[in-house]
Amino acid sequence: MIGSGRCHYHPERAGLGICVECRNVICRECTTQFEGINRCARCLSKRLAAANVVRERREWSFGHLFLAVIGASALFGAVLLVARALSAA
Ligand SMILES: [Zn+2]
Ligand SMILES: [Zn+2]
Repeated sequence: MIGSGRCHYHPERAGLGICVECRNVICRECTTQFEGINRCARCLSKRLAAANVVRERREWSFGHLFLAVIGASALFGAVLLVARALSAA
């Protein structure tokens, strides 16, 4: 039936589009355009939260990469010291 769609979040409003994530009919107010794709506000906030988690993980791994570089250079320095001591002996 054409025009029978009602917003999933606002039953009194006519549905305008469909959220690509949850497939719910959403009204004009609930429609959000992100990356050119229709999503309801709930799915968009979920997606933004997921993006924030990814960014936090990146920062976390960057910190560990930094520590790994420091550890590797310390190990490299120790190897150099041992090599110098062995060649001096
Ligand atoms: Zn949705
Ligand atoms: Zn709505």
